[in-house]
Amino acid sequence: MAKQAKNLVMGDGNEDAQIVIIGEAPGKNEDEQGKPFIGASGKFLTEMLLQSGLRREDVYITNIVKYRPPKNRDPSESEKKAFWPFLLRQLEVINPTIVVTLGRHSMEYFIPEAKISDVHGDMRVVKVGDNQFNIVPLYHPAAAIYNRKLRQTLIDDFKELPKIIKKLEK
Ligand code: URA
Repeated sequence: MAKQAKNLVMGDGNEDAQIVIIGEAPGKNEDEQGKPFIGASGKFLTEMLLQSGLRREDVYITNIVKYRPPKNRDPSESEKKAFWPFLLRQLEVINPTIVVTLGRHSMEYFIPEAKISDVHGDMRVVKVGDNQFNIVPLYHPAAAIYNRKLRQTLIDDFKELPKIIKKLEK
């Protein structure tokens, strides 16, 4: 996969962020420009952040897999496993208040066997080795962008994020 990709897309944004957002893997645009979430899903993500009173520059955005899978196929288990230590290190360094996973691929390493339709929007504390993360699993923007019902659910879940952070800060 590395040979076929143009760029390694590690992540982008504020390294002191209170929110880290984790997607699936870079797509074509992301691979070309070396930045995560800049295509249609990225525009939708930026829009939802703004509607929630957040700016892209305030958060840190990355993916579970940092190379574009050929032909946009789903990332494989071994690809996810290979990048997992890098993702954990990013979280350790940034140390955000909450970690938002977008879709099944980034959720499953933190909350195995959960169904996104059951758990979306619910924060839970997850221990990984010596670390503890406040994980908020959300739908992936690509799944919600053209689905009226999911779209509204995702927008509503995003609007809860500042409230979740406020509660944690109390
Ligand atoms: N762009 C990304 O960087 N990640 C995704 O999961 C989708 C689009």
